[in-house]
Amino acid sequence: MIDRRPALIARCRTTSDVSAAVRYTHGAGLPVSVRCGGHNVAGTSVVDGGVVIDLSLMREVRIDTENRIAEADGGCLLRDVDLATTAHDLICPAGVYSYTGLSGLALGGGYGWRARKWGLTCDHIIGAEVVLADGSVVEASEEQHQDLLWALRGGGGNFGIVTRFRLRLRPAERMLVRTGLYAGDNAAAALRSYRKFTGTLSDDFHLLGGLRHTRPADPVPEELRDRPVLDFLSICSADDGESRAEADALFAAMPEGATTETEMTYLELQAMCDESAPDGRRYYTKSGYVSELDDEAIDRLVAAAGANPSSTGSIDIEFLLGAISRGSAEDSAFPQRQAPFMVSAYGSWDDAELDTPGIAWARRTMAALRDWEHPGGYVNYISLEDNPGDAVETYGTDIYARLTRVKRQYDPRNFFRGTRAVIPDTHGNSR
Ligand SMILES: Cc1cc2nc3c(=O)[nH]c(=O)nc-3n(C[C@H](O)[C@H](O)[C@H](O)COP(=O)(O)OP(=O)(O)OC[C@H]3O[C@@H](n4cnc5c(N)ncnc54)[C@H](O)[C@@H]3O)c2cc1C
Repeated sequence: MIDRRPALIARCRTTSDVSAAVRYTHGAGLPVSVRCGGHNVAGTSVVDGGVVIDLSLMREVRIDTENRIAEADGGCLLRDVDLATTAHDLICPAGVYSYTGLSGLALGGGYGWRARKWGLTCDHIIGAEVVLADGSVVEASEEQHQDLLWALRGGGGNFGIVTRFRLRLRPAERMLVRTGLYAGDNAAAALRSYRKFTGTLSDDFHLLGGLRHTRPADPVPEELRDRPVLDFLSICSADDGESRAEADALFAAMPEGATTETEMTYLELQAMCDESAPDGRRYYTKSGYVSELDDEAIDRLVAAAGANPSSTGSIDIEFLLGAISRGSAEDSAFPQRQAPFMVSAYGSWDDAELDTPGIAWARRTMAALRDWEHPGGYVNYISLEDNPGDAVETYGTDIYARLTRVKRQYDPRNFFRGTRAVIPDTHGNSR
């Protein structure tokens, strides 16, 4: 879907390589993009005619077990971090595909299976080594360059290139994964049960509902093959008796469906979805925050799922809040902590002829939810054709104003263009 031709790809191995690449790009007057995992859905890691500063060879992780801190290089994939941390029974909460890049994900926020329990990945950044637009290197921490640290927690790749993160870690647990598959006729009823539980759910739980179409060869009961379904997922700690009881109550209240129950390690959980988004397919995602899932919103989602022109892809309905909602705008630039739901229309197909109808379907799906829209957006889910000028709307006026001041201090000539461009404040306002 994204076909761009850079003039140069700088494959860096060290922080000095990154500084040299930045200085070269600046001097040559070329545009720049920064690549970690290359997963950004709008393809922001690739730039036409400019320099891609590629960190994918910088993937070491060091663990300080005593202080429960990881130092992870700026090119790490999530699985690099998971492998290193779980070896010490520790984790850093992050996204749900093990081959997503740590940097893009963490700098924009970082939702994942344990975000309701522990918060976003960006809430775990306690320091960073950053190469600035003039090639100089600074350490952002609670003691120095505090404003830069604040901006790196959700402000996206707008301020410099992070070559190393310091991340706070949490204890690893065994996980209990329960799934329920409900025939399309029962999907609305199942979503209503899901909604009811979100009112009382403990933070230990992550719930996800996916409206999709099963394929003829899917390993599901025959009566659920090749038809619209709701795929429901509940994830919690397997070590917590209260959570187990809560999961029992949740599934008892759902309509009749095909259920499974599996215990797994955190590392297994993190790789559980990897097969569902293979390389080489064509993808288009349109996401938005939703403030309420009333019966009409649910009916519209079920109808939209039935109108998907592709037999792959889904509409995912994810319940947020929990620890995410307890972070503050004082501590991080991440803006939308009070949004209850994230809905994502995941278009996915193989045939280029489906590009136009597939993209139109994803956009129509989200447009149908406009009456339930929660203000703001998530920088990491901004798609290819979204208006990159909507940063004020994404961040809200106060956070955006502070971001523009940090931008003026660290990148006044707007060298780095993140996933949602923050423009330097030109009025010289101080905080
Ligand atoms: C299959 C898939 C699954 C996903 N799952 C989740 C999920 O579970 N949770 C979630 O929150 N998001 C998820 N996302 C979205 C993801 O967070 C974003 O796409 C994110 O940008 C990916 O990070 P990356 O490093 O792979 O991106 P890249 O494409 O490599 O980079 C994206 C942008 O991040 C910035 N950047 C990257 N590295 C650096 C650096 N070292 N320093 C400064 N800036 C940098 C640059 O602005 C760059 O343009 C998913 C995306 C995909 C495609």
